[in-house]
Amino acid sequence: MILLACGSKPHTLKLAKGKERIPNRGVYYSALPCDQQREKGKTVVIIGGGDSAGQAALQFAERSSRVIIVAREGFDAMSQALQDSVRKNRKINTDYFGYEVAEFIGEQQLEAVMVRKTGGDKASSRRQIKTTSAYVLIGGDPDTAWVGHRAGPHSERVAQTRKHYIKTDVYLRPHGTKLPFETSLNGVFAAGDVRVNSLRRVGQAVGQGAAAVASMERYASNNPRILIDKKSLAYTRFHVLALTSP
Ligand SMILES: Cc1cc2nc3c(=O)[nH]c(=O)nc-3n(C[C@H](O)[C@H](O)[C@H](O)COP(=O)(O)OP(=O)(O)OC[C@H]3O[C@@H](n4cnc5c(N)ncnc54)[C@H](O)[C@@H]3O)c2cc1C
Repeated sequence: MILLACGSKPHTLKLAKGKERIPNRGVYYSALPCDQQREKGKTVVIIGGGDSAGQAALQFAERSSRVIIVAREGFDAMSQALQDSVRKNRKINTDYFGYEVAEFIGEQQLEAVMVRKTGGDKASSRRQIKTTSAYVLIGGDPDTAWVGHRAGPHSERVAQTRKHYIKTDVYLRPHGTKLPFETSLNGVFAAGDVRVNSLRRVGQAVGQGAAAVASMERYASNNPRILIDKKSLAYTRFHVLALTSP
């Protein structure tokens, strides 16, 4: 039996050649509630137009003086309720919808973000936003390349969504044939950020992990040839390279 709990990785910005340098301080790839204190009274730039960006903007608007959202397509992937709250919030500026990041300015510490109109390269479409903090919240990908996105010549594929999140139980057809958190392969389970429709929260990953282990115990009791060695930590520092058939 295997439990896939390999998580997801945040996307990073693709900047033009020669403009890829990112200052040592001031560019972040997550926005935590504890960051609010650091941003008290400051101008914060949020890069992204999805739910994470919307949540972060509202969070910082509580203490920062101004929150500017830079989003290539605008509210491209933000839920309606979040959009409504963002629109209503007077501290949140959406003038940079339709803009993308061209460059981060600053040596050690971020001093400004240079943006340009999406797809435009003319100097006249550029704007400089002075800030010491930019939060890049442009989504992420599940860490499933090693699981194999396609079936091999001798192996079945673990069923995945188009974006390679792993499908389990209720997301598989026919319904009702799988244990909770079991993937398309018998005895292979998945939990946490790697699973389809994850909320990307620690609480959910921990809860799903515990529930998946309960399913694994059920699977083992239905397959008496499986022995569970609960003391075994022999592979905790290993990196799994691939799933292959015996
Ligand atoms: C920067 C950041 C801030 C966050 N802040 C919060 C927060 O404030 N509150 C909150 O609730 N959630 C937060 N989250 C989300 C939360 O961290 C995740 O939802 C949670 O960690 C998911 O747990 P997981 O076990 O699914 O995956 P992860 O915690 O990502 O763990 C996956 C593990 O699998 C390992 N792995 C991957 N591939 C292999 C392989 N081939 N072989 C062996 N090991 C492998 C990885 O090294 C990693 O240790 C944050 C996420 C990020 C990136």
